[in-house]
Parts: sequence; structure tokens; C-alpha cells
Amino acid sequence: MPNTLKVFSPVDGAVVPLEQVPDPVFSEHMLGDGIAVDPANDTVFAPFDGKIINFNKASHALVLGRDGAEVLIHVGLETVSLKGEGFTPLAKAGDSVTLGQPLLKFSQEVLAQKAASPFVMVVVTAPADAPALQKADGLVKAGQPLFEVAAGGASAAADAQETFTESAPITVINPNGLHARPAAVLAQLAMAYPFTVQLVKDGHAADAKSIVGIMGMALCAGDTITVRAAGPADQAKAALAKIEAGFKEGFGEKDAVSAPSAAPETAAEDAPADFSKPVRLSGLSACGGLAQGKSFLFQTEDAAFEENASDPQAERRLLDETLRALTAETEAKIAAEKSDAAKDILSAHLGILKDPVLLNTAQEAISRGKSAAYGVNEAVRYSIDVLKKTNNRFLMERIADLKDLRRALLLRLSGGQQAAPEIPAGCILLADELLPSEVSAFDGRVAGVLLAQGSPTAHASIMLRNMGIPSVVRAGQNVLSVPAGAAVCLDGDAAAAFVNPDEQQCQAFAARLEQSRQERAKQQAAAQDAAATQDGVRIWVEGNVSNEKEAALAAQNGADGLGLVRTEFLFHGRAQAPSEAEQQAAYQAVLDAAGGTTVTFRTLDAGGDKPLPFVDIPAEENPIVGIRGVRAFKRNEAFFRTQIRAMLSVTPADRARIMLPMIAFADEVDFFKKIIAEEKAALGVTADVKVGIMVEVPSAALTSEQMARRADFFSVGTNDLTQYTLAIDRGHKELSALSDHLHPAVLKLIEMTCAGAKKHHKPVAVCGAMAGDLAAVPFLIGLGVTELAVGAGAVAEVKALVRRLDAQKCAAAAQAAVGLASAQEVRALARKEFDV
Ligand code: PEP
Ligand code: MG
Repeated sequence: MPNTLKVFSPVDGAVVPLEQVPDPVFSEHMLGDGIAVDPANDTVFAPFDGKIINFNKASHALVLGRDGAEVLIHVGLETVSLKGEGFTPLAKAGDSVTLGQPLLKFSQEVLAQKAASPFVMVVVTAPADAPALQKADGLVKAGQPLFEVAAGGASAAADAQETFTESAPITVINPNGLHARPAAVLAQLAMAYPFTVQLVKDGHAADAKSIVGIMGMALCAGDTITVRAAGPADQAKAALAKIEAGFKEGFGEKDAVSAPSAAPETAAEDAPADFSKPVRLSGLSACGGLAQGKSFLFQTEDAAFEENASDPQAERRLLDETLRALTAETEAKIAAEKSDAAKDILSAHLGILKDPVLLNTAQEAISRGKSAAYGVNEAVRYSIDVLKKTNNRFLMERIADLKDLRRALLLRLSGGQQAAPEIPAGCILLADELLPSEVSAFDGRVAGVLLAQGSPTAHASIMLRNMGIPSVVRAGQNVLSVPAGAAVCLDGDAAAAFVNPDEQQCQAFAARLEQSRQERAKQQAAAQDAAATQDGVRIWVEGNVSNEKEAALAAQNGADGLGLVRTEFLFHGRAQAPSEAEQQAAYQAVLDAAGGTTVTFRTLDAGGDKPLPFVDIPAEENPIVGIRGVRAFKRNEAFFRTQIRAMLSVTPADRARIMLPMIAFADEVDFFKKIIAEEKAALGVTADVKVGIMVEVPSAALTSEQMARRADFFSVGTNDLTQYTLAIDRGHKELSALSDHLHPAVLKLIEMTCAGAKKHHKPVAVCGAMAGDLAAVPFLIGLGVTELAVGAGAVAEVKALVRRLDAQKCAAAAQAAVGLASAQEVRALARKEFDV
């Protein structure tokens, strides 16, 4: 029985009957029946799953086959004579391709100028004389049905391989759609499988292993897609389950930034400013704080390169080596990076480096006699085009990442050393936009940043925030006309910069700046001293860290220990779990960096908003209240035991504490204490390693006495405790304003936690964000908390606050706070009583 082959449109555009094509070869069906499309885009996508039988040397035409049917796609008339000019093949003869895969890119400009017609002909060349049926008319989009043809008999082996298992429809939940970071996580999940994995939307398929491919689909929150996987059915199903779970968890995106409400979509188009007078430039705040200095215009360029190369093999080798070297360098940076946000950015870069689109496009250019550098430039330009066409602001922000990678690759390929402009110390740096690598090279020299373009959510802005550099972005083109060396007062809080301020403005600004500097310096000078309240209650202000760099920073800033080490850091961006030895080395490094203090290692808290590819957690309707934290033990026992062994193996072991996340039932504590005792005995560890629990599920707080009988210490995870108490997802965009950890209900649970702990003489710490909230500190102390685990940068400030509090007064205020009706009332009380 012949099959029917459905042929989908390879391009967007208007359908033109083949008979109207101004070339008898087509109009008289000499090659066969079919359809022409007047193209509105510049990429040919595969019109069905099949194999490329022929790709013309001049790259203007190809034949795709399946089930004995063959379809010719011919771009333009008389384009063979262009000898490849204006064409970039994205696949090659012999490739098995899938519906919607980009096959060929063409320049509409070259076609308009040099071809006899720009039409794209889609013609059935086999079986001979087979009619094209159910022909489309009007406008079509790539991936929409074009016609059908009665194909031959049995499927070829290659096609059999490409039998897909398809998922149920999946809805995208990421508030900003699948932008670079979730796309990178998805591509990484897909890359773990040795077979084709695709996303399909409206008949258009994209390679799920390609970040550019995924982003090019411009998937928005609420969009529905399916995922399909080739390969053996059981493996394909496993892949789909993992990817579906990833979609449900937003690919681990916990802090997708919603669009700033008053944000202009494009850079302000102000009238040219007169810089002979004081000028105020305003934009959007990317990092708060004040800075004052002289303006410095920062401009850089990509390395120059030759277009053509005579030895394609040498170019291919060079390309491979360069990609490998930059990949290794990026991986090393990820491993060494201390901030999660910077790790995410580097991981996105890594994903782009591994993207098949980059490699394939560059390789194809090399096959046409171009240099590797030219190929990379082409590939990046193509990817930038894909992102631009999405018209999605968040996706377009990722263009800076592509440009950054292009710069790094071109620099290596040209073998050159790029002399970065010398940045004067203490300057206010002005630029059109900044690339992440440029920001990372600032090296403490930049006092403030003012950009003509950019965006608060761009990667460069995230890095500026991490570095604490006051920054204003999207302040318009006037930024680029500020005279070199002009005086600038930059107010990151007010999202404005004052250029050439008058004497009075200048003095007032300098006084504000000086006051905040002095306060900070005073706090910093006393940071290493112990902190006790006025009436002598010792409070341990500890670090809340994710790796040894942050641990060292916390110690440097005066942390009295590490109250929380989120061990997830070691697993970030990895498809496989690290070995026991690798974990032990990482934990030891954290312990060594902590300056002789006690370090609290938390066992893996995967699940919920933190999925990890190698942790077996089922796809769940409601993962936040599903298998998360210690609940994943049963499915991942070997992994958990490895982690516990690695924690117990640090030396000296009695400086380590083990903490269990998501404890909700008292017998869970008994169970894990037994597991830890077993591993301890097996390792022959005799040190007194304390085992404590996170109090982050209300049931743990409500049964704190039973818990305190079992656990050696408590640490309140206020992020989750607030989430579970108020029933508001901690990442919820609309409800986030209501989700305040100072709600009296949360305070009441902390009060109960402290009461249970007191009966059994166990210490209570707080390691959620509440510990670093100055308004919360007096109440926490008043309720009986004695350890506060905060970000390294906040240690000195929190210690300074502790020293000016009176614990008795805090206790009275806490009693009052628990009886109030709202978090706002509690905050008002904090302001009134403690001036915080
Ligand atoms: C918390 O829930 O407050 C906490 C510290 O843990 P995490 O934020 O890692 O869930
Ligand atoms: Mg938590």
C-alpha cells in the first residue's frame, strides 16, 4: 500500500501555482508537479522527516527523500550561476533531517538583485509523474501543509530510526518564556540522549539540543507544545518524562524577572543634550547605590579576520580546537564561579558553544572555502537574526551573549591579543551596551555604569548587581555624547545620572556618598568581632554560601561560621552526579575556606524549584509539595549515601554539621540519623558530627518539641516556611508582594520552633532570607534565635545592628509582633522601635 507523504511548506510566503513560475522547466512540470512559494523569510526548513539525497554544490537546491518519494526544493531561478553566493547550507547530503529543521539560509538581498526570480519551488521528482494533491493556496507559514503526494512502499531503515514517540501537550510556565537560561537547561537535558529530540509547535519542529533552535521558537508563557523523541520507545519515553518534568518546573528558573512596569521598550530617543550645562540623564536602575567620578567612554571591537581560506581541513581543525578550548575554559569558570547568577550566565554561554547550529553553520562556510573565523561570524549572525525575529525582548537580550561569544571565538581564531581599553580607576563608565565578559574584566576599577542601551534583566546587568556597581541602563543615545572626563554623579537608586552637576549638587551628592561610605567602613572595621546585644546575648552571624569562594568571602567579612552550605552548587549545570571523591574535595575546600569555624552542610535539596538532571524525581502535578529534599532519598539512595559519606569524610569532621532539608515528620529524623550512623560506622568516623534539620515545613515547627528531642540543632528556612505557611509559591510573580516572611503567622511558627528547642537545649538558627532582613533581626532575636546565616556582604551590617539591640526589648517587641494582623504592621513596628 502506498503511503501518503504530507509535504509542509519549507518557507513563509505566498503560494504561487507552479504553472506561473517564469521558467518552463517548472511551469511545464518537466521535473514534476508541485508548488512555488514567494518567500517572506530567508530560511528553508525541512518540509518533512527524511534524508537529504542531494545538496547542490551551488547550495541553491536540495532533494529530500522519504518512503520512495523525492521532493526538490529549488531556491530562486538561475541561482545555480551564483555559485553559492548568498546561500548558507545548514545541512548536507546524507543527513537525516526532521520536519522544521533549518536546511538552508539564503540572502533575500542577493536573490532580489541577482536571481531571475526569488520563488522557492517545491517539486515532486519521484515517483515520476506523481501528482501533488491537496495543494495549499494563499499565504503559508513554514511548517504548514503545502501538498500531499502518494509515496512508495516500505520505509527506509533510516526512516524507521526516526519513528517518534510524542509527549502529551505541555504548557510553558516560565514567565518570560523559554529564554536563554531555561533553553540552556532544556538543551542540556536533550543532549543527554543519543537520538533526535524535538519541540513541536504548530507543525514547526526545532532541535531541542539547540539553544538557538529553542529560542527561535519564541515560546512564551502559556504556549502549548509537544516534545517528540526518536530512538527506542522505552528510552524515548524516559527522555520525554525528564523533559516534561523540566517544563513543569520551569527548568529551574527561580527568579525570572518580570518586565519592569514603567520600562520603555527601547532606548529613550531624547533630543541631543547640551553638555555645556548640567544635564540629567535618566534610565532604568540595574544596580542601586551611589557613585561619583569622571566619565569614561568604553568602546571595544571584535578582532578582524580574513574571509577566505585555502585549506578547509586546517580551518576545520582550528574551529574544533577553538571551540574545545573555549568550552573547557567556560566549564572551568563555571566550576570556580561563586555566584549562582554568574554560573547561570556562563552555563548559557556553554550551551551556545555546544549548540549544533553554531558548529554546523560554521562548518558549512568552511566547506565553501571560507575561514573558520568567517564561519563563526556567519553562524553568530544567523543566530542573532533568529533571536531578532522573535521580537521578544527577553530573547533579544541574549544577543549580547552571542556577541560576547563571537568576540571570544574571533579573538582566539585570529590568534591575536585584544588590548582591552585601559579603564581609569574610579570612573563612571559609559557605553552603548556591555557584554558579560567586559563586565567580568572590570576588576574593581569602575565606580558606576551608565549605558545608552542595555536592560536591567540582561546578563551584564545581573553581573553588575553581583559586583555591587551602581548602574543605570537604557538612558538613551545622549550617554555616548557625554564629554570625556566630565563629572558624573550616578544615583542607581533613582536611576539617574547628573552630568556636569553644579557646585551645590556636587557637594550634596558627595556628602550622601561619604555618609554611606563611612557607615560601611565602620561596620566593616568591627566585622571580625563577635556580636552581642547590649544586654550580652551572643548572636552568631554566619555565612549562607554556595561554594568555597563564597565561604572565603564570608570568613573575610567576619562570619562566625557557615550556617548553610547549599550543596546544590556542586551539581549545578551537570548532567551526571559528581563522584564521592569530587564531592569530598569540594566540601573540604569549603571547610578550609571557612577560617576554622563550624560549617553546616545541607544534604541535597533537589526538586520543587530546583530540578537536577541526574536526580530521579518523577514529573509531578505540584512539585513544590511533592518529592523534594530528603523525600527524594528512596529513589536516589545510592546518591544520598555518597553525599553523606563525602560530608563525613572532611577533616576535622567535628567542624562539620549535617543538615536535612524539608523535614516534615519526626520519624524522618530518626531514619536519617540511622543512615548517617551507618555510614559513619562504615567509614570509622568517630568525631561528633551534629545532625540538624531545616525547619521549613509548618509541621516541623508545630511539632518542634518532638523534633528537638531528635535533632541536634534547628535552622529555620524562612523562604520555604513562608511559602508553605501562606500558601504562596515563592516564585509567584503576582502574589510575591503578599509573600512577606514578617507575616505574624511565620513569626508564630518561629516562636514555637524556639520554644520546643529551648526545652531540649538545642540552638535555633535562621538561614532563609529573613536572617538578612534588618527589619526582621530584632524579632528573631526576641523569639530566641541565636544564629543568623546571611549573604557574605551582609555580615558586617547585621553584626552592627545586633550590637545596638537590647534582647529584652526585642523579646517584648516580638511578643507584640506575633499578635499583629499583617506583615506591614510588623514592619511599621520594626521602624518605630528599632529604626530599621
Ligand atoms: C529556605 O527555604 O529558607 C532555605 C534556606 O532553603 P532554600 O532557599 O535553599 O530552599
Ligand atoms: Mg528551603
